[in-house]
Amino acid sequence: MPHKQLYDSHIHITRLPHPRELAQELDRIGYAYTAVACEPGEWETLWELWQDLDLKNKGGNLAFGIHPMAIAQATEPHKAELRRILEQDSGFMVGEAGLDRRFPEYGAGELQEQCFTFQAELALELKRDLQIHCVGDYGRAIALLKQAGFGKTKEGPRPIFHRFGGDAGTARQILEMGGLLSVHASTLTKKSSRMAVAEFPKEVLLFETDADESFVGKFFSEGKPSTGDIAQKLLSELRDVREAAENL
Ligand SMILES: [Zn+2]
Repeated sequence: MPHKQLYDSHIHITRLPHPRELAQELDRIGYAYTAVACEPGEWETLWELWQDLDLKNKGGNLAFGIHPMAIAQATEPHKAELRRILEQDSGFMVGEAGLDRRFPEYGAGELQEQCFTFQAELALELKRDLQIHCVGDYGRAIALLKQAGFGKTKEGPRPIFHRFGGDAGTARQILEMGGLLSVHASTLTKKSSRMAVAEFPKEVLLFETDADESFVGKFFSEGKPSTGDIAQKLLSELRDVREAAENL
């Protein structure tokens, strides 16, 4: 019997080779996850996978959103489409959405911020957890989430900071909003983030691979890995992150 003891809180399964076969293999080995589609062009593909393979009954979940580096692709009709796809299942999360300082027109009130606020408000309205991507501006991300209404009640949707890279003070503010910290291998390479992870109870931690099209190139420099090889690598990566975080 497969054990669902490991949960990958953030994986871009449709960007990995042969996603359908991979999803079947992951189910076989008991690897559960939240699959993220964060560009409009990916939404339908992930939704079809969900339906065809009955992922809901296999311990999976999905997140649909607009990535802060992909907002140029999102039009007004996409916003309506996002709402429609989220309404297909009451468990679907919103995201990944957020702020990224590397974006050329980064700034207060700019398009990226508007798109984040739109998704934060949508998550609250639909009562969904929000997967957050944040690079370089935790202060603003937290302020925008509060402004949208996150953290008003403990039972409300949770902001999940994916690939958490903040310090203990930042983590505290996130937890005060009822949020969660999703730990990636990169989280543990930063001293301040490592200390934050060590400081807070295990219940507020999630673990992730954030595996996407770069995963295969990173871990299999030669030849073409089989679907089974990729699944095993995901499993060992996720297990390593969790063990390293728990042993801090
Ligand atoms: Zn991601």
